[in-house]
Amino acid sequence: MKGLPSLERAVVVLSRFPGIGPKSARRMVYHLLRRGPEAARELIEALEGIRERICACERCHNLAEGALCWICADPGRDPTRLCVVEEPSDLLAMEKAGLFKGVYHVLGGRLSPLDGVGPDALHLASLEERLADSGFVELIVATNPTVEGEATAHFVAQLAEPHVARVTRLAHGMPMGGELEYLDESTLYQALVGRRDFRCGIGV
Ligand SMILES: [Zn+2]
Repeated sequence: MKGLPSLERAVVVLSRFPGIGPKSARRMVYHLLRRGPEAARELIEALEGIRERICACERCHNLAEGALCWICADPGRDPTRLCVVEEPSDLLAMEKAGLFKGVYHVLGGRLSPLDGVGPDALHLASLEERLADSGFVELIVATNPTVEGEATAHFVAQLAEPHVARVTRLAHGMPMGGELEYLDESTLYQALVGRRDFRCGIGV
């Protein structure tokens, strides 16, 4: 909109969020303007809080507000079961299902050679260190049921085999090509209940 560059900049920045197009971004800006300066200040403070305080858990790479995330810092979690996920949002989806009481390792993505994402780009070295040191009895590979997620699962299983007696993969029931964070709770619950042993080369 000519003559309102600040407003236009806010619309452009907000439009970059997933699921937010220019129309929604414009509605958000108008909403903020209608609610007055206090609403904008509240939003700025919340965003600054994210920028200043959210970091990666030094053990599992989940989001944290301190050295350890709330799961690694919880003595009530089962330290013998480890669930490997791609992103913190996948961990949150697992937690929402409420069944898994172990601990996590967040890879920070999935293997995708075409996009230049190789093993070094993921938190695999720290995973191997944890597997060697921590005495896990089960590793659940909960990468997404996509082509890249499956390839990543195989890689993780291979890495884990010398260290962990039981490597499992979330059962199907999850749609191929789907994303863990968008599944409804009952689908994810069933997938976790029906998880199966998983070995490299004998995946299905
Ligand atoms: Zn953690």
